[in-house]
Amino acid sequence: MVYTLPDLDYDYGALAPHIAPEIMELHHSKHHAAYVAGANTALEQLAQARESGNFGAINKLEKDLAFHLGGHINHSVFWKNMSPDGGGEPDGDVADALTEFFGSFDGFKKHFAATANGIQGSGWAMLVWDTLGQRLNINQLFDQQGNLPAGQLPVLQLDMWEHAFYLQYKNVKGDYVNAWWNVVNWDDVAQRLAKAKAAAAGLF
Ligand code: MN
Repeated sequence: MVYTLPDLDYDYGALAPHIAPEIMELHHSKHHAAYVAGANTALEQLAQARESGNFGAINKLEKDLAFHLGGHINHSVFWKNMSPDGGGEPDGDVADALTEFFGSFDGFKKHFAATANGIQGSGWAMLVWDTLGQRLNINQLFDQQGNLPAGQLPVLQLDMWEHAFYLQYKNVKGDYVNAWWNVVNWDDVAQRLAKAKAAAAGLF
């Protein structure tokens, strides 16, 4: 197996009351696990296609790989982006960068929340380091892999699939987004921003 399900750094109940334990357990042990299995299956089937020389299903397999690997990557970032000790406001380089690219922390927060709440269908709100522009951008990611330019490194992601909130918040997405700010792990965001900048240096 190329891809494996990572353990969480905290218990399924650790993010309550902001994210209910039953959501966390299903989300990690069922949904994320399915993306990991799907990505491995897509790689196996692509290898079989190369062996047999039959590429008749290539479009399906490439879509499967993008979707399932996207799901694996997105959730791997998402779990680290949250902590029972999270919340509050960032300081240091993250605070400076959010002010530089979005005017203020409050401006960033409103922009990010509107991006999340506005997603049509399933997707993610993404704070990314754009490796070409050398700047932070906010994007909507559709499903697990769509509508995001290449070369965008994830810094902070919010899962807006219904499986992420419906058991607790029903159709009231805004309450989920408001509660989520209480568990954002700004220390992890700071590490991701620093690593993204370093990784992007000299790419263009
Ligand atoms: Mn999810």
